[in-house]
Amino acid sequence: MSEPSATVAPEKPDVAGALAWARARIAVMDARVLLRHVLQCPPARLVSHPEQRLDDADWQAYRELVERRVAGEPVAYLVGEREFFGRGFLVTPAVLIPRPETELLIELALAHFGSRPRPRVLDLGTGSGAIALTLALELDAADVTAVDASREALWVAMANAARLGASVSFVQGNWFDELEGERFQLIAANPPYVAADDPHLAEGDVRFEPRGALAAGPDGLDDLQHIVAEASHHLEDDGWLLLEHGHDQAAAVRGLLTDAGFSAITSWADLAGIERVTGGRWPGRH
Ligand code: GLN
Repeated sequence: MSEPSATVAPEKPDVAGALAWARARIAVMDARVLLRHVLQCPPARLVSHPEQRLDDADWQAYRELVERRVAGEPVAYLVGEREFFGRGFLVTPAVLIPRPETELLIELALAHFGSRPRPRVLDLGTGSGAIALTLALELDAADVTAVDASREALWVAMANAARLGASVSFVQGNWFDELEGERFQLIAANPPYVAADDPHLAEGDVRFEPRGALAAGPDGLDDLQHIVAEASHHLEDDGWLLLEHGHDQAAAVRGLLTDAGFSAITSWADLAGIERVTGGRWPGRH
């Protein structure tokens, strides 16, 4: 049997033909994920039924998605979903696409707070809600608040909360601005931390993500600095601040925490071996 020709778009392709056409243009994984999305079928079906014909509407929809992927749009936006910590999160271009390295923040939060009853938790810059909702679902009876400055992002996070059955309080505001007088045992954040002139912002999938969720001043530290400076007013004694940051910012963030009076300051490496999360305990005024 000869491989279907991939250069010309076939007339009425079957699954194998459509995939061969797409694989000549985009990564094979992306070709499969997009086809599964169009056909709304489980992964095994593409393998078990390569001879299944696509109807005209599906083939048209698939070609459009492949072309958008060729133009650089992230797969997560094209299918409207990305997995994080084992759950599917709705995503739109109003929110950053959840990253696997952010799962480290979750693991650390669970390690520190997994055994505390009803911890009060704050997620700053929640975006899709990946951090806040995961903690609400993983921690026992946690009281979780999620803040974002973007109303569009909060709509996405709320839709995810409804979909996943997570109970979280949502607040629209800039970092701590709407949290006057409120204190938490854990404050977690994956704030913008890329330097504004970082060429990475103009490359690949990142171009399609909200710049306000990525860029933070000349050295990428503006928001991290702001959060560390304010956090002590919103942490209970012995509460923790856990911050995700860029690959070369761990020492700078440890310095910020030291200057602000935190103790037990530590950086943790992600799966790629890069120091990705730095945290500290607020000793309080005792
Ligand atoms: N890790 C992301 C990136 O480099 C940045 C996420 C962020 O700024 N919080 O694309």
